[in-house]
Amino acid sequence: MTAPSDPSNRTTASEGSWQPVADGVFRLVAEPDSVNIGLIVGSESALLIDCGSTPAQGARLRESVASVTDTPLIGVVITHEDRDHWFGLAAFDDLESWGHETLAERIDAPEILAEAESLGLTRADLRTPTTDFSIARALDLGDRYVELVHLGHAHTHSDVVVNVPVSNVIFTGDLIENPHPWFGPASSPRGWPATLNMLIGMVKPDAVVVPGHGDVVDGKFIVQQLAGLASVPYTTERLVREGVTVEQAEEAGEWPLPWENIAEGVRTAYAEMGAEGVRRNLPLI
Ligand SMILES: [Zn+2]
Repeated sequence: MTAPSDPSNRTTASEGSWQPVADGVFRLVAEPDSVNIGLIVGSESALLIDCGSTPAQGARLRESVASVTDTPLIGVVITHEDRDHWFGLAAFDDLESWGHETLAERIDAPEILAEAESLGLTRADLRTPTTDFSIARALDLGDRYVELVHLGHAHTHSDVVVNVPVSNVIFTGDLIENPHPWFGPASSPRGWPATLNMLIGMVKPDAVVVPGHGDVVDGKFIVQQLAGLASVPYTTERLVREGVTVEQAEEAGEWPLPWENIAEGVRTAYAEMGAEGVRRNLPLI
């Protein structure tokens, strides 16, 4: 979720209880953005996936791990740069953390700092992961490996999926949201469908798929969401070639997703194509 933050929601930050989604794998819903936080418990160590919207929420999430296991927490994986997944990282300063290498640049982006300010945070409250990677990384929790994979610029620059092969579970961050994905200013209209196409190749048909928000889904849901997302660049391309302006796009196009979820993506797709209907940016990554 990357909808503009609402300062009036600040007091409603809270966390649900941990629910099992597979053997040794748990999910918790953190408010106010209803983000899915993950916990993977191996025989030697446990790993948190995402850390809430603020350092205070991150600290509560860290504490809550004790209600599930006494296996030591080794650290936290950040699935992407949105506030509700990342801004709690300062609560884990003494542990290792993992995330995509672009977070080091994104942390100083004006829109990231504006998001922090809206939550009453400053640059000093934000953290980059202690360990970054460009494409992939594997972590050993004892009886299971966890794979962290960056498949390209999609929902954001820094999307990482967390695969737990032995449990047949994959955490997708906001590459998948239930019921609908959300385009933010950092989303890539062409890169996102291409990334989901690769993600489908990683997911077994009976896999448990934990989206960034909403109830757990399966591999078929990824295919459905890919179809909806792909309409954004390709319908935009058709509209541009027909002379439809960006202001007319909502009415002129047939959109399978709610307009408020995709409006930012359509604007980005228009900007990338330019007035002549020619793509200025190829989807290289
Ligand atoms: Zn989110």
